[in-house]
Amino acid sequence: MTSDRPSKKNLWRPYTQMRLAPPPLEAVATHGSRIVLADGRELVDGIASWWTAVHGYNHPHIAQGVAGQLARMPHVMFGGLTHAPAERLAARLAALLPGDLDHVFFSDSGSVAVEVALKMAAQMWLNRGMSGRTKVLAFRGGYHGDTMGAMSVCDPEEGMHRRFGAYLPSQVFCDLPRSPAKTEALDSALAAHRETLAAVIVEPLVQGAGGMVMHPPEVLATIARLARRHGLPLIADEIFTGFGRTGSLFACQQAGIVPDILCLSKALTGGTMALAATIARTEVFDSFWSEDPAAALMHGPTFMANPLACAAANASLDLFETEPRLDQARAIARRFADGLAELKGLPGVADVRTLGAIGVVQFAHAPDLAALKAAFLDWGVWVRPFGDIVYLTPALTIPMGDLDRLIAAVVAVVPGQAAALS
Ligand SMILES: *Cc1c(COP(=O)(O)O)cnc(C)c1O
Repeated sequence: MTSDRPSKKNLWRPYTQMRLAPPPLEAVATHGSRIVLADGRELVDGIASWWTAVHGYNHPHIAQGVAGQLARMPHVMFGGLTHAPAERLAARLAALLPGDLDHVFFSDSGSVAVEVALKMAAQMWLNRGMSGRTKVLAFRGGYHGDTMGAMSVCDPEEGMHRRFGAYLPSQVFCDLPRSPAKTEALDSALAAHRETLAAVIVEPLVQGAGGMVMHPPEVLATIARLARRHGLPLIADEIFTGFGRTGSLFACQQAGIVPDILCLSKALTGGTMALAATIARTEVFDSFWSEDPAAALMHGPTFMANPLACAAANASLDLFETEPRLDQARAIARRFADGLAELKGLPGVADVRTLGAIGVVQFAHAPDLAALKAAFLDWGVWVRPFGDIVYLTPALTIPMGDLDRLIAAVVAVVPGQAAALS
């Protein structure tokens, strides 16, 4: 980097008060679980680039799949045309997903996949001749993306939602049904809003960006049962949890449920390219299958089913078939459970929890995030605490040495920061 703030002039950073934040680090290369910086430092990545790089960086099989596709046909419009990479990917996703989740709509980001799911649910009712069913029941603590519709189903108290309240459609919010009382409250809310609700949306097993808050499979099963009882489609946002992160290929499988609509993105291309999918069960799809042109699903992103991204996703699925990703996720879970346990009960530490390849330490109060981030950099690890948590979501392929370094860094850095809070 040549100046102190190289990206001040032209680049606008995500979720960053650029005037206060230290300048971003310049990454020049990646390999395995490592990020190489311009100044020569090499960081062990504890985040897998926002949970995308499940096979580690620069996996040769994905590179090869993309290179071949790049030479043949990098992109072609999807209106009126189709292509083998998309056909193959849709068929493979349908085969991997539970039940008759067989109808795959591609888009280019998680937020858009959620927008498509919301639109699918709303239009499903319109196509069945029922207007007025436009609201969605969502859960407190949830996160579903940054576009307007997706924001409207994020936690209602969280800063961004409240700030943009005036722009957003109003939705119905409930607590996750973790107790008999809360189950009853959810049941009543579903009954009370029955005529205006189009769907229920949930992040199965883990509310990710809302603070890595986990719930047991029975809670998810309860949500599915109540949605069904009230005749509402359930949207499972597996954008974070999909592709092994929770120890099963999809989180829904642990509860034995089949949601009506399911969203995938983050790890879909193994961390290489933007791609998302909204997948519907046959009953949902059939509401759009009609003699009426206006009953068609009204969505179509320009780069829908981009062949390069589909090639990357197909290569990523090959790796799930040929390499022991789920075993690796479970091995990481054991290491987290052992390695992070000693932080439990320390002054200023509220909770330590793990699920699959997710390890979380929660502070009793919001910590000094800038100090934490700097301490992790001193340890040579890329860990990005937010809110009141430090979390690890490494590549499922992370070498045990690198994993131990991440855990050692957390175990070394957290106690001092936590003690300062208590
Ligand atoms: C990241 C995320 C999204 C949004 O995906 P983008 O690709 O950032 O738009 C939506 N839902 C969940 C659960 C996510 O983790």
